[in-house]
Amino acid sequence: MADRLTRVCVTCQLQYEVEKQGIYVVEMAAFGAYKIWCADLHRCPKCGHRIIAGFADHRISEHYEPEFKELLQQVMESGNAYILKEKDD
Ligand SMILES: [Zn+2]
Repeated sequence: MADRLTRVCVTCQLQYEVEKQGIYVVEMAAFGAYKIWCADLHRCPKCGHRIIAGFADHRISEHYEPEFKELLQQVMESGNAYILKEKDD
């Protein structure tokens, strides 16, 4: 067990483990892709529930930036992208 508890599965009472480091997270808005983030994918070792955590302090890119479109394409082709759907609010 790690010295410090950080992310614990409520059902299994176990710490989530890092399944994949440095994933891309694409945050969506009504108009399409909004922001690209770098984060980590964590997985409960027992039930397999997954969470995205460990977000970097700053987004990699935002929709209005000149390199966004090209970067988004690279991210989507990387096989390492996770899409966060638009929120209804
Ligand atoms: Zn679990």
